[in-house]
Amino acid sequence: MLKVVKFGGSSLCDAEHFRMAAKIIRSDESRRYVVPSAPGKRFPGDTKITDMLYEFHRMVRDHAPSEEIDAYFDKICERYYGIINDLGLDFDISHEMLYIKNSILGRSGRDYAASRGEYLSGLILAKYLGYDFIDAENVIYFTDTGAFDADRTQEVMSAELAQHERAVIPGFYGITPNETVKTFTRGGSDVTGSIVARAAQADLYENWTDVSGFKMADPRIVENPLTIGTITYRELRELSYMGATVLHEEAIFPVRYAGIPINIRNTLRPQDPGTMIVAAAQDYDSEHIITGVAGRRGFTVITLEQDMMNSEVSFGRRVLEIFEEYGISFEHLPSGIDTMSVVLETSLLEGRRERILNSLRRGLRPDSITVEDNVALIAVVGRGMVKARGTAARVFSAISSAGVNIRMIDQGSSELNIIIGVEEHDFDNSIRAIYSEFVKQQ
Ligand code: ASP
Repeated sequence: MLKVVKFGGSSLCDAEHFRMAAKIIRSDESRRYVVPSAPGKRFPGDTKITDMLYEFHRMVRDHAPSEEIDAYFDKICERYYGIINDLGLDFDISHEMLYIKNSILGRSGRDYAASRGEYLSGLILAKYLGYDFIDAENVIYFTDTGAFDADRTQEVMSAELAQHERAVIPGFYGITPNETVKTFTRGGSDVTGSIVARAAQADLYENWTDVSGFKMADPRIVENPLTIGTITYRELRELSYMGATVLHEEAIFPVRYAGIPINIRNTLRPQDPGTMIVAAAQDYDSEHIITGVAGRRGFTVITLEQDMMNSEVSFGRRVLEIFEEYGISFEHLPSGIDTMSVVLETSLLEGRRERILNSLRRGLRPDSITVEDNVALIAVVGRGMVKARGTAARVFSAISSAGVNIRMIDQGSSELNIIIGVEEHDFDNSIRAIYSEFVKQQ
């Protein structure tokens, strides 16, 4: 058994959390490769190290007064020195800090600056655990165009890992062909963890954070929602897309193809089993018919109506062509016999709404065009829906009983999800109604 464990910034925000992380790692000897984030917020209103590094880089770029620059860098140093001292480590990183400061003063890039958060976190954690340190810049590669180079990384990293029984590999960054440090997008240590898990051929990728897994619904809307025990990668994609975020979107791919499950765990509550993210649904019976419900506000529905639309061969294509010309990607395309609707994010229409509508009028000459703003989309997601008859009916009647008018329905052909459009002011009520329909209140 081999596990790759990633600890997020909230799990490494101070020495106390480093200790908790180390205890978790040491309690299971299969936890051989560790991917840390940079120290995160210690309390509400605190600043993450990554954000401090971005700020430091900005100050240098904008030629802030040198006393201010120095004072700000000292604050970053203090956070790390504090962790080292509180851990009781005999570890002098002052030369590292000086080198980093001088590199940024000497105009090293913004990504380099940000990446030092993980780098230093990794050095300290490796020292504290007595694990080897593998610098991500020697094992994670990007291409000339800035894309992640999966093949080269896999080859080099797997060979490197084979040389180390136990190691810490800092998250978030890698190197480009011209030797420049580059980061993934924010939250990217999740991606590193996934890449390491694949290269190590791990049995499990544990992602330790500050929540005990994914909730079936947003806790800001539903009181005390249940935690999802097992979710498939596809279900997770559907839910994350609609706003449920715990894991970086791109973290799924490396492990998904390698068939490695991800376990979301809570550093503060290691006794909780968390959420398992797995490939194949059939291996895991879902506890409820629905796995989760999530959604987003801020959509517009443009509906075109035309008598006998169904017999007109090219209507749909021409509608889509017009959106393509404007570079607009749409979300859904529900259609009826004589109507076709395009659901898209309202922000995409900004500054060109009339032009787009005119293009549709000119290009298609429909009998009517209606535009409805302030629509929220809700995704009811669940691999259990395929087997359970009448799920859609239950969803709709639950929403209707809450007095909500459904504006649009779209069922994914995979039967994995049902998308419902409601008016934004009905959003919270609809989510609550769907959740209580499928989850018995305790
Ligand atoms: N430290 C980086 C960030 O704050 C990456 C990460 O934590 O995953 O985005």
